Amino acid sequence: MNKLNAIDQETIKVLNQKKIIQLLYRNKQMTKQDISKELKISIPTVISNVKELIEQGFLDEAGVGESSGGRKPTIVRFLPDSRYSFGVCITKDQVRIILTNLNLEIIADKSLDMPEELDNFNSLVLQIKKEIDHIIDINSIPIDKILGIGFSLPGTVDEKKLLLENAPNLKLKNISFENFQHNFQFPLFTENEANASAYAESFINFNGIISSLVFISITEGIGTGIIIGDNLYKGYNKRAGEFGHMTIVKDGKQCNCGKRGCWELYASKKALVNEYRKKFDDCDKKLNDFLELSKSNLLAKDILDNYLGYLAEGIKNIILMLDPRDVIIGGELSNYKTLIEADLKKKVFQENSFYNQEECKISFSDLEENASILGAALLPMEKLFYLNEKII
Ligand SMILES: [Zn+2]
Repeated sequence: MNKLNAIDQETIKVLNQKKIIQLLYRNKQMTKQDISKELKISIPTVISNVKELIEQGFLDEAGVGESSGGRKPTIVRFLPDSRYSFGVCITKDQVRIILTNLNLEIIADKSLDMPEELDNFNSLVLQIKKEIDHIIDINSIPIDKILGIGFSLPGTVDEKKLLLENAPNLKLKNISFENFQHNFQFPLFTENEANASAYAESFINFNGIISSLVFISITEGIGTGIIIGDNLYKGYNKRAGEFGHMTIVKDGKQCNCGKRGCWELYASKKALVNEYRKKFDDCDKKLNDFLELSKSNLLAKDILDNYLGYLAEGIKNIILMLDPRDVIIGGELSNYKTLIEADLKKKVFQENSFYNQEECKISFSDLEENASILGAALLPMEKLFYLNEKII
């Protein structure tokens, strides 16, 4: 056998194993015969690959199924606790750390307050490491079953270089996670917060339902993650989807990024809260207090209406640029879906000669505050399910 053939054989074997893992991940358990039928690969190939996957701990045999004549078929089962992954989500206010199994079930969940001044990122990483070691310890997780740690970060990220390039809201630039790798016994992964959320939304529907989507994460700023044809689209310089900084008001408010009139200054959660606080001259109330007030108070209602106008303008621009099947809104605002959904859709689709609601679906994330951290925990799992990385 020549060298190229040997590589091809190996690639086919790895690909078949990933297909079997994906199939059983979705279906929990199946007979070897059904796996063979579904994936259109021969029974002997299924048997040899399943044997290897059992040896690696991902599957086990769980009895026998009904026979359609002849020997009863063996049932193979996916084992979600065969591997684990950590997700770490860093925001302006806090660091949240979760441990999940392969089913993305959260086994441990811990939040730390962000220090007032983040002058030493290294000490924050050491604090995260301490928490992770503690979680491993109290849950008795074998180190060799941990796939890695995925970080969700609020800024532009080069995931190949493990580099947080620019996070204006944290006032951080060029933080290399490669420098922190030696602190941990398993690999680190990094991704932008909105990209991680988009990845989680698309993966959780990874049978192909959502293969074209834009996730709009409305927090202190606005981040957007783009999924095109099942892949995360990051662009040539890894900065695609910085829609929070597209100009929505010419010569408008001054932004941290250096530009004026950026979308996030008008349509982020922070923008909405600031507007409420200014107009009501009340700096203590939180977003949920004001949103509750919007149900009955005319001034509060007016502020929300104006805000939704800015949010809708940005969404209209994004739809025109990318033509996504789904636009999914995440962040605290998604908890107020019933209050804002109808008005927002009206503002996006009324007087819109290009799109209607059947052609582009706007919805709110069911993953709620977990979207980005589950996306982060998914990063180390990617290689289990896919042959190629899902980033373009
Ligand atoms: Zn900006």
